[in-house]
Amino acid sequence: MTLKYDIGKVLFSQEKIASRVTELAAQIAKDLAPGRELLVVGILNGAVFFLTDLVRSMPRDLDVRIDFMSVSSYGNETSSSGVVRILRDLGSDIEGLDVLLVEDIIDTGLTLSYLLEFLQTRRPASLKTCVLLDKNVRRMVPVAVDYCGFAIPDAFVVGYGLDYAGKWRHLPDIHDVEISKA
Ligand code: 5GP
Repeated sequence: MTLKYDIGKVLFSQEKIASRVTELAAQIAKDLAPGRELLVVGILNGAVFFLTDLVRSMPRDLDVRIDFMSVSSYGNETSSSGVVRILRDLGSDIEGLDVLLVEDIIDTGLTLSYLLEFLQTRRPASLKTCVLLDKNVRRMVPVAVDYCGFAIPDAFVVGYGLDYAGKWRHLPDIHDVEISKA
């Protein structure tokens, strides 16, 4: 039996996302010690949309820099393989810096927990996490999420950077995916 995957209903509209991103940016800026530089690290490709909106909502006088990492994730599947591989490392050293790791979604927690351990060995002054979506019912390993946009139930979601087999990242809203028999 072949299954057909279609864009489903809107779970979070672009307006709702924008307003939550503004709140998160304000909170992150407030929590940063005065005069400190913040290095915001995005996980490619999914977190790009979220990261760029997040940093643009931060106060203009904040010393914010960005960098990216790329890790192997699901491929074309909709469930985690549990294997994390670094495909692209950071461009510069993070020792002594306040680092904020930005991810589109946390599901089992395997990706973030691996990355936190990996980055911690480089001795940043602080290492925090910010996720747009948290599917906490599916967590397999505990991960401290410092900033979270929205908690969501166990559904596969697309849009605003999140893809299914490389598709639908460009959608401005976040949708669930409808699966039917082809
Ligand atoms: P975890 O390691 O926490 O299980 O999964 C994290 C990664 O899985 C995310 O960065 C994302 O790439 C992918 N992922 C988990 N749930 C979803 C989902 O509902 N939609 C999409 N598009 N990706 C997901």
